Amino acid sequence: MNVFRKYWKRMSVFRLPYEIKPPYSHIIQIGDPVLRDSAVNVNRDDIKEEKIQKLIKIMTSISINDNLFGLSAPQVGVPLRVFTLQITENHIKSAFTPEEIKKYDIHVLPLQVWINPEIRIIDYRTNVQAESCGSILSLKAHVKRYNKISLNGFDENNNAKSIEATDFIARVIQHEVDHLNGILFTDIMNSKSLCNVLWKEINELNASSRIVNLKCDPTSQRIILVAELEPVFRSATMQLDVIIKFRSAVSR
Ligand SMILES: [Zn+2]
Repeated sequence: MNVFRKYWKRMSVFRLPYEIKPPYSHIIQIGDPVLRDSAVNVNRDDIKEEKIQKLIKIMTSISINDNLFGLSAPQVGVPLRVFTLQITENHIKSAFTPEEIKKYDIHVLPLQVWINPEIRIIDYRTNVQAESCGSILSLKAHVKRYNKISLNGFDENNNAKSIEATDFIARVIQHEVDHLNGILFTDIMNSKSLCNVLWKEINELNASSRIVNLKCDPTSQRIILVAELEPVFRSATMQLDVIIKFRSAVSR
């Protein structure tokens, strides 16, 4: 009890010198009610307005920095129907085997923004692959998705656009559109396939199972959550250090 009292007393010293409001420059985590909202369409007259352009800038910046396949507006705390989509050279080099690249028709897809997206299923046959999510750190599971879809919507300049997508890209799009409807992959996964992405490393290194840590990038002043293998008692200390660093970074 005394330990907790001491901890909260120390924490109260580190109140941030400003109010944090969405759109956040971090990805919110499961439990945040925004992830369960049904997002609403953006008024097309507002697409070029500063508020929407700022949201898009933050989303594209997180997508690039965190090398994400996709990111939806609810994941930065904004319940609007907007998501990003990309497959980078880096993804192709690091996230797939040559067999998967061929099997799932994976190719480079430049970063793109989709506003008020609508999907239509073209091929009702399904395939199963592992999925993870920036809002459910360190977990992955098998999820069934339709093979082929079409996607219609608008870009950041208010131009209408449409694409057809198969296999992996169709999967990413279905995952992001689910976010806009308050659905997470854990709602539709094969629950017995749910696993911690580092379960093998935890055994091999005989490490703690507390693997999600809080970090701050002092340059971008962003809080970053990363999977790490740390003894439990050190994690608490590290998190406190990070909060101190974050505070000094933002008050520069
Ligand atoms: Zn997600």
